[in-house]
Amino acid sequence: MADLSPSSGVDAALAGGRLTIDLAALVRNWRKLDALSAPARAAAVVKADAYGIGASPVVQALYSAGCRTFFVALPHEGVEVRKVAPDARIFVLTGAFSEDRTGFEESRLIPLLCSLDQVRDWLGSRAQFSSFGIHVDTGMNRLGLNVAEALALASEINDLKQAGLCHLMSHLACADDPLHPLNAKQRKAFQGVRSVFSGVESSLCNSAGIFLAGDYLCDMTRPGIALYGGEAVNDTENPMEVVVTAETRIVQIRHAKASETVSYGATTTLSRDTTIAVCATGYADGFNRASGSGVSLRDAEPVVGHGFVAGTKVPILGRVTMDLTMFDATNAPLNTVHVGDYVELFGKNIALDDAARAAGTIGYEFLTSLGRRYHRRYSGMA
Ligand SMILES: *Cc1c(COP(=O)(O)O)cnc(C)c1O
Repeated sequence: MADLSPSSGVDAALAGGRLTIDLAALVRNWRKLDALSAPARAAAVVKADAYGIGASPVVQALYSAGCRTFFVALPHEGVEVRKVAPDARIFVLTGAFSEDRTGFEESRLIPLLCSLDQVRDWLGSRAQFSSFGIHVDTGMNRLGLNVAEALALASEINDLKQAGLCHLMSHLACADDPLHPLNAKQRKAFQGVRSVFSGVESSLCNSAGIFLAGDYLCDMTRPGIALYGGEAVNDTENPMEVVVTAETRIVQIRHAKASETVSYGATTTLSRDTTIAVCATGYADGFNRASGSGVSLRDAEPVVGHGFVAGTKVPILGRVTMDLTMFDATNAPLNTVHVGDYVELFGKNIALDDAARAAGTIGYEFLTSLGRRYHRRYSGMA
């Protein structure tokens, strides 16, 4: 594999935390989603720096595994992907602003145009490389031509194909909730548009949509979060392998007495004499300030976040601060927890989505918020 640096980001000895990214698990996740998508093929959504874990190594690993279609949110992300995937197709989900054309051409990016104005604009500007896709909104009211606008293009489909139309897409609003009636409604609306755009490749499913299977799959799927090991579907066991492990380093171990308080606001009062592991990761590293307070998401019971060290789940004590988080290490076996040791924030022992839930959010937000202060290790590619 070309130029895959085994580590990046901050030097390990100088960083407060480290991320270990298992590229072999990523590849197995992609292969699994690709198989589940059959007869469609799975592309890979690598927007937001591949959900915070590093677009270049992710794209290189998936490209080596045979993935040839990538989706990014913004043109500048596509420029980065092009550097490591010379002959892949790179789709840009937010379409094209009118002044964007040169960048699109230089990096051969394919915009997913999301309004009739954007389509007219794109067709009106003369250029050599002009492949484009059309994004149709079937019920989310985010991006896309509405269904009536898309159907009204029926008489122009052949001209559009000649002008470079190569993809038709829509996006599900509720795929994470398989029983939600909007799923079937969107599928039907999209099938109607697909029949007018016959012969044009189409995609509808994000990660969760792949598990809806059947007619939802179309010709191509667009998994993101499931590639990276996150939960796609609510209230079911996550079938994906862990890709990202985040760990924080113990800076100090202190012994506090029952009835003392911990962290800003003195919101936590110790009920027993407590061994506190003070660790060098905080909300500036995306380890959400609410992780220690157990904010509830939907109707879930509030749960305080935990770390994992020396075979023991260790609860967060008090508020997470900008650079530091305190864990209750009292239950760890004697003499097993030391300054300099790493405490897992999420990974194989603490599920990403459990850590996110404890902070009142979702795995997507946890991953994309990781930030620049971690040492990063990429493992698992031969
Ligand atoms: C982000 C995104 C995806 C990927 O979604 P996941 O839920 O992460 O699989 C697919 N399609 C569109 C349009 C997106 O914005």
